[in-house]
Amino acid sequence: MREYDIAAIPGDGIGQETVPAARRVLDALAGPHGFRLRWTDYPWGCAYYGETGRMMPEDGLERLAGADAILLGAVGAPDVPDHVSLWGLLVPIRRRFDQYVSLRPARPLPGTRLPLRDDRPFDVVVVRENTEGEYSQIGGRMFTGTPEEFAVQEAVFTRRGVERIARYAFELAERRSGKVASATKSNGIVHTMPFWDEVVEEVARDHPGVELTRYHADALAALLVLNPRRFDVILASNLLGDILSDLTSALAGGIGIAPCGNIDPTRRHPSMFEPIHGSAPDIAGTGTANPIGQIWSAAMMLEHLGETVAAARLTKVLEQTVLAGDVTPDLGGALSTDEVCDAIVERLRHAA
Ligand code: ATP
Ligand code: MG
Repeated sequence: MREYDIAAIPGDGIGQETVPAARRVLDALAGPHGFRLRWTDYPWGCAYYGETGRMMPEDGLERLAGADAILLGAVGAPDVPDHVSLWGLLVPIRRRFDQYVSLRPARPLPGTRLPLRDDRPFDVVVVRENTEGEYSQIGGRMFTGTPEEFAVQEAVFTRRGVERIARYAFELAERRSGKVASATKSNGIVHTMPFWDEVVEEVARDHPGVELTRYHADALAALLVLNPRRFDVILASNLLGDILSDLTSALAGGIGIAPCGNIDPTRRHPSMFEPIHGSAPDIAGTGTANPIGQIWSAAMMLEHLGETVAAARLTKVLEQTVLAGDVTPDLGGALSTDEVCDAIVERLRHAA
């Protein structure tokens, strides 16, 4: 039997509810598909920070390094500043394990209510650069409290960084419908973004079967709202990809279902899978969190581990569950997190 070591970090807020839900679903799926998951729980996050002054122990990254994959819930709490929760846990994991791809599929599940009047299906994937770019710590503020006060923030784009994320996007497009839309803002940001364009065009030359179109991110956002069906793979920098993937997941029916993978395609390090949504403190503890974003992320994890049949089956069952209306209040249903989970497990048993 194939075995995988999975590090589970439920984190904060509804992560405490959605990660156990995903575990239950995966365990029900594993046996019949001939594999087993060995779970290790890591109780890190903002509560841990409250007790220890750190988001995770000093040797936290070393402890995760041996895992085959990491399943993360959400990190963040109202009383802990974002830069502490983000830079104390999420960012170190992404960087230490060189998870340079943030992969964010957005595809409406049949039966969900969409924000657009035109609710025909679409299927896009945002490939976001996840380790460099605009989210650097380089910069600073000066002359605080004076009229001359200013702030500077540097963005760092390396040839290696842009090339490898572009390559990933083109290879993905080769397996899909053969189109890459690259988002920049080269009309306003005159050094880094033209550099991005140049490197992406070089990579495009190695992939003659893929059609590359360059967009300014603002125009791309508008076109996405007007007609998401014209897009397939969207390639973007750390900041632009962050924004565009929130847009595409909203278009696809909301934050409760959207999945995300933080992937090291070289497989030298564990990749990390997490829903796009945050810790949702407003509904934490009420038992109403939608577990589908977490479970869909877990399906991406299975796919990454090579369990493609199980991943496809789980995705199918998620679609059936949503279509049948077995959903939480955010999708217009009346079920609790656990009841949605029951419905999914039940379908997995019967639809074998
Ligand atoms: P963060 O800073 O961690 O991203 P946030 O407040 O920006 O947090 P979320 O925590 O994702 O964003 O919450 C945004 C809104 O969406 C909240 O009203 C929350 O209740 C709702 N929401 C988020 N995730 C879910 C979910 N899985 N099920 C139901 N509602 C959700
Ligand atoms: Mg947020």
